[in-house]
Amino acid sequence: MLDLTQLNAKDIALALKEAKLTKDEVSSFFKKRIDEFNPSLNSLIEVFKEPDKGEGSSALASLGIAIKDNICIKGRKITCASKILSSHRAVYEATVISKLKQAGLEIAARANMDEFAFGSSTETSCYGPTKNPWDLERVVGGSSGGSAAAVSARLLPFALGSDTGGSIRQPASLCGVVGFKPTYGRVSRYGLIAFGSSLDQIGPITTSFIDCAHLLNIICGHDAKDSTSAKIDTPDFSKSLNCDCSQIKIGLPKEYFAKGLEPEVKTAIEGVKSYFANKKIKFIEISLPHTEYAVATYYIIGSSEASSNLQRFDGIRYGLRSGCSNLEELYTKTRSQGFGPEAKRRIFLGTYSLSSGYYDAYYVQALKVRRLIKEDFDSAFKEVDAILTPTSPSTAFKIGEKTNDPLSMYLSDIYTISVNLAGLPAVSFPCGFSKNNLPIGAQLIGKAFDEETLIKLGSCFEEGSDYHKQIPPLVVNKKNSHE
Ligand code: GLN
Repeated sequence: MLDLTQLNAKDIALALKEAKLTKDEVSSFFKKRIDEFNPSLNSLIEVFKEPDKGEGSSALASLGIAIKDNICIKGRKITCASKILSSHRAVYEATVISKLKQAGLEIAARANMDEFAFGSSTETSCYGPTKNPWDLERVVGGSSGGSAAAVSARLLPFALGSDTGGSIRQPASLCGVVGFKPTYGRVSRYGLIAFGSSLDQIGPITTSFIDCAHLLNIICGHDAKDSTSAKIDTPDFSKSLNCDCSQIKIGLPKEYFAKGLEPEVKTAIEGVKSYFANKKIKFIEISLPHTEYAVATYYIIGSSEASSNLQRFDGIRYGLRSGCSNLEELYTKTRSQGFGPEAKRRIFLGTYSLSSGYYDAYYVQALKVRRLIKEDFDSAFKEVDAILTPTSPSTAFKIGEKTNDPLSMYLSDIYTISVNLAGLPAVSFPCGFSKNNLPIGAQLIGKAFDEETLIKLGSCFEEGSDYHKQIPPLVVNKKNSHE
């Protein structure tokens, strides 16, 4: 019996090209897994009966990909997992989707997420939470939780997510897969429904660095349709796989190993360090002194941008429209009924920080601190080539555990947020398991536009470990979690 869970996407695509596998065999293998496991995971919110076929050849051609439901696939529904957009269809194609099609990939499914990407657990979705394939009582992380869970459970070989404050890396960490957030500007945001326009980036979620490098090759590149997209060439990231790393210097920021870090996570990161040390890689203790302000800074800037970006969902142009007798009531009713509690919290927080009288004290102040956080990284990168940290302070928490405590939810992004504020590339990759068999992720942060060093290091770690090859112990259960 064919078992594609043991192969990475690039090898499956190669086997197809060499006619060692047929297209039908591959499609039915993944279809069967989706039928068996998606009902209990709730990771894919729509699997296309007729996937959008791509034309073109690339190392990953012919394979199906899941797309987070905030990236526009022309003609398909796009909801951001929000009631307010529940009937909306994309009228244009995101640049990344065009690129995937040009590379011959198939757009196969829409993945669950936190509403408008607000969250760290995928519990705020209007479709109900996604369950962690490693333990169905636990969260998958968020906000790209559907993408991470689907890849972890091998329902598809890979997925796209988006990362504003950790939304690719944190769920990747909690699900035991590789999640890469490219440098701000590396991937076009055209067709990504904006949360925080100065922070958002689209990136791949895969089972290995090999697939990650190939997917980055496809989605990166300048795009005239996104004014923040960088005019910089895309290297062939696959050339960074399995290179010599002995000259690389890695920084360990002392602020990331302080209180609040679960001992099991700390031990796993120490394991990564020893592995690299054996490869003659040098470690230097560094300091990122403004780390303690990152969460507060991010929640002011992110929510301010979100409150402004979400103004367009007013009942006139998109999705839901609630019955009313005048214009003001139309806005109020539509937005009150259409947005969930976390989206409303962000809109309130952002509107408050931007309002006259508070603008200087909150928003402008946060921009100044953002600059200091970026300067911390600039100084660190004078000494080191990459930075190693945990991705998340803990393994996956229980569903419902933090829903009534937004602050504790926000603090779960403590290690991922600064990267977005500074616009840097970073990746989370599997580096261990807790004693109750939950995945642990390590994060590598790079200099702007130096994704290559992260791929070098990550693939070097992968060569000597098999954490990324572990498959969650799923049992068939036909009952859908939120029915
Ligand atoms: N968890 C963070 C938040 O809720 C990050 C979300 C994201 O990256 N989209 O804002």
